[in-house]
Amino acid sequence: MTQRRRKIHRIYPAIPTSEGAGVRLKRSIGTPELDNLDPFLLLDQFDTENADDYIAGFPDHPHRGFETVTYMIAGLMRHEDNTGAGGVLRPGGVQWMTAGRGIVHSEMPEQQDGQMKGFQLWVNLPAADKMAPPRYQNIEPEDVPETTRDDGVTVRVVAGKFDGIDGAVGEIAIDPVFLDVDLPAGVSVEIPVPADHAGFIYPFEGSVEILDEDGTEAGAGPVVVADSHLAVLGGGNVLIVRGGADGGRFILVAGQPIHEPIARYGPFVMNTREEIAQAVQDFQSGKF
Ligand code: FE
Repeated sequence: MTQRRRKIHRIYPAIPTSEGAGVRLKRSIGTPELDNLDPFLLLDQFDTENADDYIAGFPDHPHRGFETVTYMIAGLMRHEDNTGAGGVLRPGGVQWMTAGRGIVHSEMPEQQDGQMKGFQLWVNLPAADKMAPPRYQNIEPEDVPETTRDDGVTVRVVAGKFDGIDGAVGEIAIDPVFLDVDLPAGVSVEIPVPADHAGFIYPFEGSVEILDEDGTEAGAGPVVVADSHLAVLGGGNVLIVRGGADGGRFILVAGQPIHEPIARYGPFVMNTREEIAQAVQDFQSGKF
């Protein structure tokens, strides 16, 4: 297969915001600048050592019509929902929750102090799946496949495929790729990203550079992507990334675009305004 290198289409700095009962976050999708990146609806990074920034958590709230993905880097998050399910997410663990027709849940820090670090990603569902029964994939940290190459490149495969390793999460409509990649300074890696996928990278430690086909800085040269910046990938089927001066750790997330109208109101994401009104009514009348 011919390699077509993906370049960076555009870079968006994450914007400080607050959500839930007052949790401080950095948002990069679901902002005035980038409403969505089909099929992704929202990306929040939490990264703080100050308990005041996270302790209020996310008390009971509903979701309908999409999926929420929580990926923990540091800290503990307890989740409980109205189906009776619950548990604690630990560092390196992931929860891929398909809200479908509706769920009410809470996401609360399970600690009084210390570091809280991770991501929440919202993934859209196609119309055919928006009213499906809710389901979860809760993946323990030990169950996320991880590979370290001789050159020190470490990749955790949350979803999709890398070096022949299948990710922990499967059976998701958008056929996602979700990798956590840690690059030593100056070391590069080629990452296949299916040509029909839209996606982004988001460094959360250090920085990375995007390289040309031949792994050099020739031509357009590398594009530097700094910590807490979202870089939207252009077309192609491979991305070549190199660790910056202090190395770089980032998530790469990609998925098949859905190409359907998006009607969005808070925690409800449907195709039409009528479906949103129905969601509000169903929630208010206790049908979730
Ligand atoms: Fe939630």
